[in-house]
Amino acid sequence: MSDALFPADYLEARDRYRGFMDEHIYPSEAAIEREDDDSFLLLDELRDRARAEGLWAPHVPPEAGGTGLGFLYYACLNEEIGRSLYAQLVFGCQAPDAGNAEILHLFGTEAQKEQFLRPLVAGEVRSFFAMTEPDVAGSDPTLLRTRAVRDGDDWVIDGHKWFSSGADGAGFAIVFAITDPEAEQHRRGTMLLVPADAAGVEIVRSVPVMGHAGRGWNTHCEVRFEGVRVSVENVLGGEGEAFRLAQKRLGPGRIHHVMRWLGQMQRAFELMCRYANEREAFGGPLAEKQTVQNWVADSAAEIQACRLLTMDAARKIDGGSEARVEVSLLKFYAANALVQVIDRAIQVHGARGLTDETPLAQMALHARAARIYDGPDEVHRMVVARRILKSFRDGDGWSFAD
Ligand SMILES: Cc1cc2nc3c(=O)[nH]c(=O)nc-3n(C[C@H](O)[C@H](O)[C@H](O)COP(=O)(O)OP(=O)(O)OC[C@H]3O[C@@H](n4cnc5c(N)ncnc54)[C@H](O)[C@@H]3O)c2cc1C
Repeated sequence: MSDALFPADYLEARDRYRGFMDEHIYPSEAAIEREDDDSFLLLDELRDRARAEGLWAPHVPPEAGGTGLGFLYYACLNEEIGRSLYAQLVFGCQAPDAGNAEILHLFGTEAQKEQFLRPLVAGEVRSFFAMTEPDVAGSDPTLLRTRAVRDGDDWVIDGHKWFSSGADGAGFAIVFAITDPEAEQHRRGTMLLVPADAAGVEIVRSVPVMGHAGRGWNTHCEVRFEGVRVSVENVLGGEGEAFRLAQKRLGPGRIHHVMRWLGQMQRAFELMCRYANEREAFGGPLAEKQTVQNWVADSAAEIQACRLLTMDAARKIDGGSEARVEVSLLKFYAANALVQVIDRAIQVHGARGLTDETPLAQMALHARAARIYDGPDEVHRMVVARRILKSFRDGDGWSFAD
């Protein structure tokens, strides 16, 4: 794998993360996976150690309390961090907190930063992002129904959300609510910062996802907001700005996901190749069967394509672009590559691939959701195609070089 993509100091930092993961995270994965009290204590210990070693919160810059140096830096680190499903939590950069921290950093007032961002980045509290609702299509946020109505110096929120990841035990939420139903479609919503202990916030349940209800940070909760009052001071980024902020949050958030998937894909790929060389059937190693060779070749091509697409989008975002087409293209392409690469690795392992002797089964369980969260494949394809086609209608067409 060529590392010409990254400057030397990024690679040195990545080596430090790799060393930490080899020493502390991979040996702890089985214990963390049990999700009992001991596993939570172990996570706390690992988080303290990561802080002490200066590896904490690499997704945000020092002025926001982190150790980050921008998107490309974070992409580089994530080829390591992403390899373990638990490492993001250990390094304090787990979803959805990472994306929430970013919009608070970009759009929060000084008071909001002090109350919400500082403890979030420090790892003293977790947060959730409450946008999706069970009763309307999450792909089309103009359909959202959760309402906030102004009453004096307060907003009063009523609504029903689900798939609020990490809501169990979180300290606060960023809630997407409709505040002006008469406004132009994309000016109707506002983001509100809501303490989780505010009267009227009810975490109804952790919705089991593919048989797993989770605990704490890895839950996806159904949440009700009934007459929840927050001050006008809790508006994030301005009234009517929710759609714009959602784009700002979800764009980087999607790249964060893909960066982690790169780590997952590479780990699955390595397991597949090693096992194909070891395991013998019908007179020789699996590595000599052409079907397996096809899987290896296709996976290598897809992983490298995802790496290059990720670096391209990360550079553009670091340069101030929203990179909407690049991010959407990357999101659906990488989600499918992730599912495919892990599935091929399982197939090469036969029944062993479904056991907990390898991390592949857990990886597959989490991977399937990638084609849905932060926008299903079909919506991202639509965004890419619409924008490219429009560029041909309006001007010279789409340039891959921009
Ligand atoms: C693991 C996980 C974690 C999540 N975490 C969060 C979170 O923290 N906060 C949050 O607010 N939400 C979260 N979500 C919700 C997620 O963002 C939504 O599921 C997603 O936006 C899709 O919305 P939906 O489920 O309502 O599907 P719908 O919008 O109802 O879409 C259903 C299907 O319709 C098809 N479809 C939709 N539009 C089109 C189109 N234009 N063309 C063709 N086909 C189309 C797609 O195949 C799609 O899968 C999470 C979801 C998952 C699975």
